[in-house]
Amino acid sequence: MPAETLEFKAELKQLLRLITHSLYSDREIFLRELISNASDAVNKVRFDALANADKLEGNTDWKIKIAPDKEAKTLTISDNGIGMTRQEVIDHLGTVAQSGTRAFLEAAKASAQGAGPGLIGQFGVGFYSAFMVADTVTVVTRGPGTPADGTKWVSDGQGAFTVEAVEKPGRGTDVILHLKEDAAEFLDPWKLRSLVRKFSDFIEHPVVMDEVTEKDGEKTTTEETLNSRKAVWLRNKAEVKPDEYAEFYKQISHDSDPPLTTIHYAAEGNTEFKVLCFVPAKKPFSFDWEEPKAGLRLYVQRVLIMERCEEVLPFYLRFVKGVVDSADLPLNVSREILQQNPILTTIQKSVVKNVLDALAGMKNVEFEKYREFYAGLGPVLKEGLTRDFMNREKIADLLLFESANTPAGQLTTLAEYVEKMPEGQTDIFYLIGEDVEPLRRSPYLEAFRAKGQDVLLLSDPIDEFALPQLGEYKGKKLHAADRGAAPTADDIPADVKEQFAPLVAAFKATLPETADVRLTKRLTESAAVLVAEEHGTSAHMERLMERMGR
Ligand code: ADP
Ligand code: MG
Repeated sequence: MPAETLEFKAELKQLLRLITHSLYSDREIFLRELISNASDAVNKVRFDALANADKLEGNTDWKIKIAPDKEAKTLTISDNGIGMTRQEVIDHLGTVAQSGTRAFLEAAKASAQGAGPGLIGQFGVGFYSAFMVADTVTVVTRGPGTPADGTKWVSDGQGAFTVEAVEKPGRGTDVILHLKEDAAEFLDPWKLRSLVRKFSDFIEHPVVMDEVTEKDGEKTTTEETLNSRKAVWLRNKAEVKPDEYAEFYKQISHDSDPPLTTIHYAAEGNTEFKVLCFVPAKKPFSFDWEEPKAGLRLYVQRVLIMERCEEVLPFYLRFVKGVVDSADLPLNVSREILQQNPILTTIQKSVVKNVLDALAGMKNVEFEKYREFYAGLGPVLKEGLTRDFMNREKIADLLLFESANTPAGQLTTLAEYVEKMPEGQTDIFYLIGEDVEPLRRSPYLEAFRAKGQDVLLLSDPIDEFALPQLGEYKGKKLHAADRGAAPTADDIPADVKEQFAPLVAAFKATLPETADVRLTKRLTESAAVLVAEEHGTSAHMERLMERMGR
């Protein structure tokens, strides 16, 4: 087949323009992206080969090679991974396939100034970051097959690319960067070495570079491995330094801040596995508009089986990032069968327990940090009240609330609420609205205030579903303050009832929509209040439904 010229998809053109023009200061991350692609490609062929060993063609000396060429001003990153067919080259390198990349574009569009520097590091912008340092990129690749199955892809990143058939002796991919005039620093072995250490030290396959040494006029070439390849999660907790954890977290999360907390342990007993996971310090930048991605990386005996194993992490903890490694799972079965393995359920239970315990620890010991985490991700955590029956009480203990008696800007917990309940109060009361400030002035609070009882004030959309699901806490029922029963039954004397009967009748006649009009002692300042029936829809819920057009 002759060389064919094809156009990039429209959104990719925008992305390329952004990458080449506005993200200049972070451009060295191109190396991390290309090495991570090479590593993914090796993991893929290794996984496929579990079922089909002949795919490997005896080519199993896994490595990623970096080769700077000073004369040609090129930098080549090669791997012996899965490679790509002609169609895969067109599909994968001609469109924005990856959700992180799309999310990045959204963010760039949303921000008025365009994507500021520093932003790029939070996203896997992937392959296209090569155009930050190269004016032309050539990819020569082939999958399992014969040398004649190779494909060459060339582009200047301006809008089009060409593909043609070529010979490629070994399986895998070479990415050849024709460096820009001002990117010559990436030909320097020292620079490359330090970049690999900085960004790709934990990549499990060796990243190598040829080192030429001259002795007595004789040149010898040795292959130097640049990364330490230490699987942090397999190491003993006592031996891992805090910045090694931080660096590993950065690599798997693309988060520029250090995590809120690091959870690292080895489970022993019937099932043995190792877990290393992190809770972010605050809600990640892209959390709300990125496709939700839950799960941990699953390794079996150091082989990456799944980038995101959803079975080991419940959806409401989707902000947790990390790795699980178990030697007890079978290596040579399909992912689908593996996903049904009961060991994964055991792992999930353990991960949930450890994450919830770690959060409880943070809340008790470093409240301010916990509070910042909670401000962004608390609503996600609350989803657990509706989904994770077993751990409801534990999740309830992690909740923070504003309340009628808590000064603005401070927060309370269910435990504190219960502790401060005056004698005679049996239930926990809460009031839900769109914002907490107007709730503070709500007439519903009057009767509670008069009795010295506190009311929790909530304003997350999920509260309306989550709190009733919780139902009770430490044997105390949760009760909406704007529903039927007042803090104490209204025992209105008969003569008062009689005296007000004409007024009540007049109200009923004027307001036929109301189910009932009652005299009450619950109000101390206001003249009247609307109350939902005990089992009816709450006022806030009605507003929500109205907005949804029901
Ligand atoms: P991502 O790695 O997040 O999927 P990239 O933009 O980095 O996004 O890469 C796009 C796609 O191109 C990859 O998903 C993969 O299918 C393909 N690809 C890139 N580099 C390689 C490589 N070295 N070997 C095989 N496939 C590759
Ligand atoms: Mg990538």
